[in-house]
Amino acid sequence: MFCLDNLITGSRHNIAHLFEEERFHFVKHDVTEYMYIKGPLDYILHFASPASPIDYLQLPIQTLKVGSLGTHKALGLAKDKGARFLLASTSETYGDPLVHPQTEDYWGNVNPVGPRGVYDEAKRFAEAITMAYHRAHDVDTRIVRIFNTYGPRMRIDDGRVVPTFIAQALRGEGLTVFGDGSQTRSFCYVQDLINGIFNLIFNTDYHDPVNLGNPSEMSITDFAKAILKFTGSESELTFQDLPVDDPKVRKPDISLAKKLFTWHPEVSLEDGIRETLKYFKGNPDLVPTAKKKG
Ligand code: UDP
Repeated sequence: MFCLDNLITGSRHNIAHLFEEERFHFVKHDVTEYMYIKGPLDYILHFASPASPIDYLQLPIQTLKVGSLGTHKALGLAKDKGARFLLASTSETYGDPLVHPQTEDYWGNVNPVGPRGVYDEAKRFAEAITMAYHRAHDVDTRIVRIFNTYGPRMRIDDGRVVPTFIAQALRGEGLTVFGDGSQTRSFCYVQDLINGIFNLIFNTDYHDPVNLGNPSEMSITDFAKAILKFTGSESELTFQDLPVDDPKVRKPDISLAKKLFTWHPEVSLEDGIRETLKYFKGNPDLVPTAKKKG
């Protein structure tokens, strides 16, 4: 088992527990460069990319390169080894969607030249080249469109709403709601996502994109209030400007995944946030100044 990562947004700490496994090999490598792996490979899971809006706005060229050149290299390796290939795509391929909830046959509403375009278009290209390798070279491919997912091992400062609100609530700082907070998201716990991805790889022979996410949609203001409740924090909500092209709604239609492999998310927001909190509370960067109720 080989894990390749250039660690520009990730951390060795997240895989420290795997170093004990004899079959696990970590290679610090940028997948936009040529990859050589000795011996056979059965599966290639291509997850490499910055995934937080703050990260990909700071790393626009790297984001475009990993989605395009990195996907090309990973597909080339899959073709060479005869490996099954999974592309981690994203709900961002739908942009600011005009169809709600989002079904896989919706082509999306993406601003190619806006600041988020670097991620959205890289992933749209990644899907296109994955389908091309499937059709032209018969590579056994899968594409998962991942909707907002959270859980332990997220970077506390990655800028996404889940770690940001949790950190702010635990520190007793204001929760920075962007815009008027009426935009919606649907949050999926990481273990549910992983179960879905395993099903897609091992229990189907389906090559077109499949949505995976939790359809329980909520506004960002309601999400902020839920975090205050789960943490017992007395922080307030502070409103800031909405980032450019921030999607107004997002909710996966998961009928296809249900039909293909009878999957649905099982972890409630409360249980998922409880597990995530356990992880963040152990983070030395957290200064626990929050006044707790009770
Ligand atoms: N958001 C927010 N405050 C923050 C970070 C994010 O209100 O400190 C909002 C953001 O504008 C978006 C939603 O939360 O509407 C989800 O943002 P995130 O960065 O987690 O991912 P996105 O779904 O935009 O890719």
